[in-house]
Amino acid sequence: MDKKYIFGVDVGGTTVKMGFFTVAGELLDKWEIVTRKEENGQYILPDIAESILTYLTTKQISKEEIAGIGIGVPGPVNDKGVIRGAVNLGWKGEFSVVDQMETLTGMPVKASNDANVAALGEMWKGGGQGYRNLILVTLGTGIGGGVILDGKIWTGTSGSAGEIGHIHVEDSEKEICTCGNYGCLEQYGSATGIVRLAKRYFEDHDVNSVLKTADISAKAIFDAVKAEDTAAVEIAKQFGEYLGKGLASIAAVVDPEAFVIGGGVSKAGEVIFEYVRPVFERNVFHACRSTAFCLATLGNDAGIYGAAKLVL
Ligand SMILES: [Zn+2]
Repeated sequence: MDKKYIFGVDVGGTTVKMGFFTVAGELLDKWEIVTRKEENGQYILPDIAESILTYLTTKQISKEEIAGIGIGVPGPVNDKGVIRGAVNLGWKGEFSVVDQMETLTGMPVKASNDANVAALGEMWKGGGQGYRNLILVTLGTGIGGGVILDGKIWTGTSGSAGEIGHIHVEDSEKEICTCGNYGCLEQYGSATGIVRLAKRYFEDHDVNSVLKTADISAKAIFDAVKAEDTAAVEIAKQFGEYLGKGLASIAAVVDPEAFVIGGGVSKAGEVIFEYVRPVFERNVFHACRSTAFCLATLGNDAGIYGAAKLVL
């Protein structure tokens, strides 16, 4: 029987997002289940398997019509589908997500790190369509990233390729990063990072700004930039300096066709490129100067799209 459908699964710390796709990449259905993290997260994979099997029974679709199940998980996964712990899920030690899910479902399974999977999703059906070499940079609470080379995820030796947030960009930092180092890109370029920059700016500068009365967020900062608030523009420049230099370093190694920018900060829109792009161009190796910058478009669905694409 022809393979017609794929399941794309994105495992998060709070919910598991599930998508049911055609092999051409049309999202037919999506839903979420709760991530049960108790007892070292031992129920998470069985819950996913049960949800998938119930879906097939309800829709009267046979397993023979399923090309496979792709799954993105928040931790380092090697190219055999072995994960080495996932703090957010309560998973400890090493085990094969692929073997467990294949046993539970009786269908072929592929697994990779969630940030890498999101990058694959943006290449397939999102902001990175048309490119085969791209870097997804997700500017959220931290900075996540995914590296796609020749249309495929580059996992790295230890499964930590694309840890863009932990590129060292500042020697003078006194606050520790979540990774244990000091002066990582995500301390300045993430949604949380740009808010830190703003707070420090107002500690050092006694100036008027619409941000002083607002709840400072990445969005509020870029809204103020659009309203030509002088302080907000200065903060955006600092953000652009860090991110632009960080991306220039990546370009010197990977030389991608495009950077696809996603996450909360990217909701500010193209305005962020006005602060990142000039710094990037000033610092990058000359041959990489025309690297494209685009916005991610799939939002929270990037993970299920990319997970589905893993199967193909
Ligand atoms: Zn770090």
